[in-house]
Amino acid sequence: MDAFLDTCRRAIGAQHVLTDAQDTAPYLTDWRRRFTGKAFAVLKPGSTQEVAAIVKLCNEYKVPVVPQGGNTGLVLGSIPDDSGSAIVLSLTRLNQIREVDTINNTMTVEAGCILKHIQHAASDAGRLFPLSLAAEGSCTIGGNLSSNAGGTAVLRYGNTRELCLGLEVVTPQGEIWNGLRGLRKDNTGYDLRDLYIGAEGTLGIITAAVLKLYPQPKAQLTALAALRTPNDALHLLTLTQAHCGSALTGFELMSGFCISLVTKHFPTMRLPFAEPHTQYALLELSDNESEEHVQAMLEHVIGAALQQDVIQDAIVARSIAQSKSIWDFREHIPLAQAIEGKNIKHDVSLPISRIGDFISTTDQLLQQAFPGARMVTFGHLGDGNLHYNVAHPEQESDTTFLEKQSAVNRVVHDSVHQHGGSISAEHGLGALKRTEILRYKSDVEMNLMRTIKQALDPLNLMNPGKVI
Ligand code: FAD
Repeated sequence: MDAFLDTCRRAIGAQHVLTDAQDTAPYLTDWRRRFTGKAFAVLKPGSTQEVAAIVKLCNEYKVPVVPQGGNTGLVLGSIPDDSGSAIVLSLTRLNQIREVDTINNTMTVEAGCILKHIQHAASDAGRLFPLSLAAEGSCTIGGNLSSNAGGTAVLRYGNTRELCLGLEVVTPQGEIWNGLRGLRKDNTGYDLRDLYIGAEGTLGIITAAVLKLYPQPKAQLTALAALRTPNDALHLLTLTQAHCGSALTGFELMSGFCISLVTKHFPTMRLPFAEPHTQYALLELSDNESEEHVQAMLEHVIGAALQQDVIQDAIVARSIAQSKSIWDFREHIPLAQAIEGKNIKHDVSLPISRIGDFISTTDQLLQQAFPGARMVTFGHLGDGNLHYNVAHPEQESDTTFLEKQSAVNRVVHDSVHQHGGSISAEHGLGALKRTEILRYKSDVEMNLMRTIKQALDPLNLMNPGKVI
């Protein structure tokens, strides 16, 4: 591989070809620190042309390529396997915002731009780029697109797929496809953009994208409602959508157990309710009229929900600080859960109407099979996306419980399937769920996916061992 690396050094500069163990280490372990792979080099090209040059060389030398953005992915998609035969291709040096067009309401950005920087650039131009997730300070737009990330505003604005109009891609053969079109209508054949979005780096390298921008809302309001059951939360969701329409930008569910974990491990955090409740719904409204308008809408919904006995109590944030403290509860759930011990995570999606039934049926099945298991259920209810995590029984250690991971997954994923859902809502398949998906997708669907992969990447050099 010396000849390969020497040519790479000439193509992108020796300082951007990392081979020392201490330099490559940060690129080889996943964010949750579950797996460390091996790569014989980490390459950091600085332009689309340099990416293309490296991929051409990989073709010539038959070197597998693992594309990597911020390495915040949760399904082992952005790190190599332990064979040591691959390179990691880090896109983080492609970090320019190429253009902001406030009339077309688009911005063209390079794949390695950090999501938070994109949000700020949009805001500086008086616009909103609505993709938002807890990893936004380190994830990149290339990673967001490749995993079709969701986040907290999908209900109103859609997944990353819906926020992208065009792409620039380096193909597995090292050619550059310039599809950077800022068009909202373009029916000229197969949609290659949609093929690359969500492909998790298995079909080529995304190097730039045209993103959609939106008007900045004039006012935003957050509320927290206390309820009895997930079905009551669905009722509240329907009421709010009927009255507020697209002003509803976020609707999150958190079980009382999630909140009890947060207050147990972060004792300074307290919810301003007199007593604990079994479920909570977090609502976020964004309005293009005024503070008063959004306040009136929300008060109407809460009044109606109290009158119909859908909710027991509610608080409406009166300031940005109060709004932040409500969101803090939501964002502290994964942290509190990690302190409580290792747990078995599921990122599932269901038809919204079947969520209540899914939770009660699956809770029961798990209790029968694993008495004392504790379900940490929260998520983006408005999108039908639950983080349905299972923590160890109090009398059992987390490590012993983790040995039952496959059996727990079987119960949960089979139940998801029976309820018409998907075993990966927003995190992707990566290496983690690659074989699990075979149980739930038909042979026809898997074969179509394999045919596409084979046609575009016949040497199987693009992120091998991921997705299919
Ligand atoms: P990486 O982790 O580097 O890569 C992800 C996948 O994309 C890999 O398969 C990789 O090979 C591929 N890839 C990366 N860049 C490119 C490229 N330019 N071209 C081709 N392939 C590429 N996800 C959600 O959807 N919603 C959430 O709410 C959410 N919350 C999170 C909260 C935390 C605290 C963390 C750690 C993660 C969260 N995630 C969430 C998961 C993760 O942040 C997202 O999937 C994110 O979009 C990944 O971006 P990244 O740049 O880190 O990509």
